[in-house]
Amino acid sequence: MSKLLIVGSVAFDAIETPFGKTDKILGGAAPYIALSASHFDIPSAIVSVVGEDFPKDYFRTLENRNVDTSAIKVVKGGKTFFWSGKYHNDLNSRDTLETQLNVLADFNPIVPDAYKDAEIVVLGNLNPLVQLGVLEQLTSTPKLAILDTMNFWMEDAFIEDLRRVIAKVDVITINDEEARQLSGEYSLVKAARVIEAMGPKYVVIKKGEHGALLFHKEQVFFAPALPLEEVFDPTGAGDTFAGGFAGYLTKTGDISFENMKNAIIHASNLASFCVEKFGTERMESLNREEVHQRLKQFKELTQFEIELS
Ligand code: AMP
Repeated sequence: MSKLLIVGSVAFDAIETPFGKTDKILGGAAPYIALSASHFDIPSAIVSVVGEDFPKDYFRTLENRNVDTSAIKVVKGGKTFFWSGKYHNDLNSRDTLETQLNVLADFNPIVPDAYKDAEIVVLGNLNPLVQLGVLEQLTSTPKLAILDTMNFWMEDAFIEDLRRVIAKVDVITINDEEARQLSGEYSLVKAARVIEAMGPKYVVIKKGEHGALLFHKEQVFFAPALPLEEVFDPTGAGDTFAGGFAGYLTKTGDISFENMKNAIIHASNLASFCVEKFGTERMESLNREEVHQRLKQFKELTQFEIELS
């Protein structure tokens, strides 16, 4: 069976939304990606780093979902990456209050031998040099390398490294605001074209509660987000989306544009659960039946019959 290799931050998050506030809880791009991808019953492993302060229980949370955590390095005496953010009332935008890179600042990733030939690789949000370091260790070219990143890595200090990774991947998933920042274009259609010219053959632009767009040459596909009654905490929705997208493609082994459309639907479906509770809580308890039921709702939401004369 195909394997999924995930690199990304593993973090402590402190989150504030209009509905409440958390102390330090499990966060980071990699846990969200892995928890989401685990719904496709595929072998997956995380390459990342934490400090000695990282609770063993958090490893167990991932292992309970069959995620291989042996390549999450624990730095003796080190402190885990910390991020805190505060959402505005509309929950569509947020301010980063604090980013402490800690052990992530000088992390040298080591890809486990068993994953050096992984078919699908997700380079989740973290330092682009670490993302590059992972790509360089692979012994065979993956079927698909998917990159996710955020505005933090588009600042002057990192942008050149980020451009080097972007040039090497097949797919980039990015939110609308970041797509505009990266491309310098306001129109998302133009932004996707500019980003495609940087290297990736496929550009996925995530628009939060307004769905997601997939661009490939002249082709475009749009999937709405499921209209939810209650959104509690959007943290990790983008990573959950990337994990669902990658997990589905790993499971099916089909990386055609047509199948990527299905991957976008699965991704949106899984992301819709993530936002229902704080942090990773909802993704930890999510079961197969719930996923299936909501997928049916998705189908009804997006299907229509129209006569074209
Ligand atoms: P998302 O809401 O999908 O953008 O992802 C939020 C997650 O990204 C949080 O759990 C944070 O720990 C993590 N995060 C925030 N800033 C960074 C950063 N600069 N590098 C890596 N991960 C980050």
